[in-house]
Amino acid sequence: MPPLPQSDWALFLDIDGTLLDIAETPEAVVVPAALRDHLRLAAAALDGALALVSGRALDSVDRLFDPLRLPAAGQHGSEWRPTPQAMIRPVAVRPLPDDLHDIAAQLAALHPGILVERKSHALAVHYRHAPELGPDLGARLAAALEGRDGLMLMPGRQVWEIKDAGQSKGTAVELFLQQQPFVGRRPVFIGDDRTDEDGFRAVERAGGFALPVGPLSRSWPSRHGFADAHAVRGWLAAFAERAR
Ligand SMILES: [Mg+2]
Repeated sequence: MPPLPQSDWALFLDIDGTLLDIAETPEAVVVPAALRDHLRLAAAALDGALALVSGRALDSVDRLFDPLRLPAAGQHGSEWRPTPQAMIRPVAVRPLPDDLHDIAAQLAALHPGILVERKSHALAVHYRHAPELGPDLGARLAAALEGRDGLMLMPGRQVWEIKDAGQSKGTAVELFLQQQPFVGRRPVFIGDDRTDEDGFRAVERAGGFALPVGPLSRSWPSRHGFADAHAVRGWLAAFAERAR
């Protein structure tokens, strides 16, 4: 297990696959009751410098953790809420073009194992239940993006995402690090997927480090990491109990 957080850390946490076990669909994940408590205690022990940084839209994040509100970034940095009380601010200037949502819906109609998650500034095409379709879906989505500036296709764990090319989990971390209570702290990013690597690079540039989870802990060079989300929750519980 990695060392428990120091009081001068700022913690950035991915959600799916990092805090929560991956479920059949994004809406089917389960938030263990103790996790809300542990996140609240951990945030207090860091003077509030704990943020969720997710590909989910922030309204989905808030529904999951209700009634807990934390600083958070959603849709890979396209939405941002610097403090628990603040309004959610869109960062990306343009919403995703409607015809891309139409193309994704046409892909979802091809096979019952394809699930499209529609967000304001991004879309995700999940193929957990049809893994053999992954390469073909990726090729079709790449073709749909041809000639469009400012958007990118990003691979994840059995998901393709289309998002604003100018925003990432890394730009979200950089925004937080300019703000109280994050400024001047040692940033640590915990994540399990390719999209989290932008967050990893951002914390490393700012003098912090990454704690990769699951498959990423084998590919990302790091002294410490976690086997899975269960291990991350155990580590957070230990930190929360020490802080209580
Ligand atoms: Mg994840």
